[in-house]
Amino acid sequence: MPYFIILFLSLTLTSPAYAHDWRATQGDMVEVTLNTNNPINKLTCIGKEWPFQKDKHGTVHGWIGIDLKQKPGSYPIQWIGKTTMTDHLHINKGEFRISRITVAKKMSSFDAAAIKRIRSDQQAIKNTYDMDVNIFPAFTKAITPVDGIESTPFGAQRYVNGQARSPHSGIDIAAPKGTPIKAPLAGKVLLVEDMFLNGTLIAIGHGKGLVTVYAHLSKTHVHVGQEVQAGQIIAEVGSTGRSTGAHLHWGMRFNHARINPHSLLSLSSTSHK
Ligand SMILES: [Zn+2]
Repeated sequence: MPYFIILFLSLTLTSPAYAHDWRATQGDMVEVTLNTNNPINKLTCIGKEWPFQKDKHGTVHGWIGIDLKQKPGSYPIQWIGKTTMTDHLHINKGEFRISRITVAKKMSSFDAAAIKRIRSDQQAIKNTYDMDVNIFPAFTKAITPVDGIESTPFGAQRYVNGQARSPHSGIDIAAPKGTPIKAPLAGKVLLVEDMFLNGTLIAIGHGKGLVTVYAHLSKTHVHVGQEVQAGQIIAEVGSTGRSTGAHLHWGMRFNHARINPHSLLSLSSTSHK
């Protein structure tokens, strides 16, 4: 018997037909699929529940977000129904830019009032991550909010005077002041606020724990509670807050995980192939 037939037989006999190995990198949003006739009630990975949807061919698609600091390694993906089917997600370490800068001490610290405001700003953004939006995100149809040159990549780690700052949880896209910013997916506006570091900021909930954030805006075109369509203009690029030039800071959270917005956009580019 040829070797490959023996291998095939032993694989089909010893492991369930649906055990898949998926690979991803810190900060990725990953789409996983399962072919099954059994109904699936729940999808879990990395200790969280993730959204899933059955397509017209009967394939179940699930979406998982990997925080940029998620420990690399292998994690079970559990498709839970009458029986539980287990796949594996192998998470690789991301390669993020590191920069070290030295500044005068008074430039690197904030006074007590500023620190208080920064904390309350951060809390207001964090609160949006748990806000319920009754939408199922069209994960594979996202569009780019603004075209421009990426000036700071996702995950960039800055050290100021040797001290680590929090890693860059989004991407910075340089574009002229006033450039319109489009919603990448349909959603509901959860927050519009002027902030100390972020300047004018908008947060949009797209459903199932997917939230996108837009900072340093010069102008906003939406209000809290408003529903927006994919491609709708929500704001204009600016340089408000702590910013050295006109750019959009675009951040993304998925069930609290800090996600590289490019990984949402690449889901749509693969679906259009
Ligand atoms: Zn930024």
